Amino acid sequence: MTDCIFCKIANGEIKTLKVYEDSLNFAFLDINPSSLGHTLIIPKKHYQKLEEMLEEEAKEMFSLVFKLAKIIPKIVGTSSCNIGINNGKLAGQEVPHLQFHIIPRFEGDKGSPIQGLVRMKVNKEELPTLAEKIKKEIKNPEIVREGEEVKTEDKKSKEPKKEEKPKVKETEERPAKSPEREWQEFNFEEQDKAPDFSEARRE
Ligand code: 5GP
Ligand code: ZN
Repeated sequence: MTDCIFCKIANGEIKTLKVYEDSLNFAFLDINPSSLGHTLIIPKKHYQKLEEMLEEEAKEMFSLVFKLAKIIPKIVGTSSCNIGINNGKLAGQEVPHLQFHIIPRFEGDKGSPIQGLVRMKVNKEELPTLAEKIKKEIKNPEIVREGEEVKTEDKKSKEPKKEEKPKVKETEERPAKSPEREWQEFNFEEQDKAPDFSEARRE
């Protein structure tokens, strides 16, 4: 997509702190890190949401997430991280190009667990029926989007190397500031003002 900032990052038009690249995926450090080591993993093809991908592409992407989740926390000196996708606008997605976040976690970082993000009242009596519906639907072959053959890095390495695209911009552009992203500008000097999710998790 021509005006997508992450497409531009993936094709080298906008410079970034890249940590990995192959024919399908690209990983780089978040411009507004929630913690030290906050990394984004994106597919080079423009998709907004996970379910738009081909199954094979999703597997390749998850394999990269798996590797980076093994090494990034260690490199920044911790043993834990949150891994997730803001999958769609209602889930807080601001850049409409699919991205996995790996966010290393530290003692006293004032963050919350993923479950602390949402506190919707749910009628627990509905849950057995819901579980049945999901069990049934997962057998539906149409949930998998199959398509053209996916070119993996292995297959690519057997092909002749193409010349790298020139990088046309020297500095990375910061995204426009919006009220929704103010949390990203959170000043860690003022940690005491951060919301406390510990109560929200208890029913
Ligand atoms: P989303 O809300 O879409 O899940 O998250 C977008 C993430 O991308 C945010 O964490 C934001 O800081 C990061 N981001 C937005 N624009 C840029 C950029 O131009 N460069 C980098 N490195 N990260 C960005
Ligand atoms: Zn894009």
